[in-house]
Amino acid sequence: MEKLIIGSHVSYKKDKGLVGCVEEALSYQANTFMFYTGAPQNTNRAKIDPELTKKAYNLMKENGIDPQNVIVHAPYIINLANQKNHDFSVRFLKEEIERCEKLGMTKLVLHPGSHVSYTKEEGLDQIVKSLNEVLTPDTKVSICLETMAGKGTELGNLDEIKYMIDHVTLNDKLMVCLDTCHLNDAGYDLNHFEEFLEEFDQKIGIEKIGCVHVNDSKNVLGAHKDRHENIGYGTIPFETLLHIIYHPSLVNVPKILETPYVSETDDSKEKVYPPYRFEIEQIRRKEKNIHLLEDIRSFYKKD
Ligand code: FE
Ligand code: FE
Ligand code: ZN
Repeated sequence: MEKLIIGSHVSYKKDKGLVGCVEEALSYQANTFMFYTGAPQNTNRAKIDPELTKKAYNLMKENGIDPQNVIVHAPYIINLANQKNHDFSVRFLKEEIERCEKLGMTKLVLHPGSHVSYTKEEGLDQIVKSLNEVLTPDTKVSICLETMAGKGTELGNLDEIKYMIDHVTLNDKLMVCLDTCHLNDAGYDLNHFEEFLEEFDQKIGIEKIGCVHVNDSKNVLGAHKDRHENIGYGTIPFETLLHIIYHPSLVNVPKILETPYVSETDDSKEKVYPPYRFEIEQIRRKEKNIHLLEDIRSFYKKD
């Protein structure tokens, strides 16, 4: 069995449920994937069809995808740091956990939140309070707090995540999702990943890393921007990303690509293609594909 656990964000469509996600992941030759249980920007959620879920589990089994490595991402309109949406965010996150459990999923990635009009300290305490309301001793899902770029009033650098984990009562149900683009934009130099891991281990503990989002960044170190770029086309060296992806301390941690679709104008119509099949391939080969974008375009153009 291949050791590298790698996949990408895939879409979840109402009519195909989890089966559609598995099929899309397989089309990228991935052995895991991440999905939103509906559109990431809204909270309309369809009922989960147990028949489709069963089918998806069979398909995963046939193709060597371990459901324990599959990740769910909570919609980004949940903002636990903002008192204004408190009741809605808490209720929605509780329902999202129930959906994960129905789907048999064990890891839910969450953006901790933006403090907006509150102070950073108030925002952090609000997140802690909200997580304390959401988590119960029976919660089986691990909430993976994502490291954020620090865009606007976003919370989610290592010290802030440490604060959340230290103050939430049932913190054994909290983990962390490292996002390489966000870390770069937050000012963590990933070219010195050993130092970063040491800092992480001291503050939070390496065993808390539940997921890695592998993205290149369009922006320079510390830009606080959050704009993802295709692997090898941004400011993070390909070798640095490989070093993280293949790091011995992270072998059992799923790696998920969230890089942008590749666009092309054809007959004055704009078309977009998923980059994941080719990004995964170059990561497996451990060799930078300097024709990545061209390969993607010609592959999807055929059909
Ligand atoms: Fe995210
Ligand atoms: Fe991410
Ligand atoms: Zn991002």
